[in-house]
Amino acid sequence: MFKQTWVAVSYASNLPTAQSRAAFLEERGIPCFVEGGALADELATSRHLTGIEIKVHVDCLQEAQALLAELARRNVGRAELTCPSCGEKIEAAFDACWKCGQDRPAENSASA
Ligand SMILES: [Zn+2]
Repeated sequence: MFKQTWVAVSYASNLPTAQSRAAFLEERGIPCFVEGGALADELATSRHLTGIEIKVHVDCLQEAQALLAELARRNVGRAELTCPSCGEKIEAAFDACWKCGQDRPAENSASA
């Protein structure tokens, strides 16, 4: 019997970060979705929002964890940037502006 089971592989404090992680996994063939995004839209101005989950199929959990660990390592040592769209700070851990959703600008080519 096919049982569809989804488990949270990662938690994000803002929707753009959650979506960028989900996109990262999807690009690598991991079925996933973001849960909690509707709430996040309503509270998009709050950077203290918690509880957005990235869920993957349980069969892909270990692979997804490994990929996210790789992504986290890649982010280590990145600088804070200023959002080119709204001028807010984009902290090193985030892949997109928490405020307006603008993708983090490329600071070097190491992420290719
Ligand atoms: Zn912005």
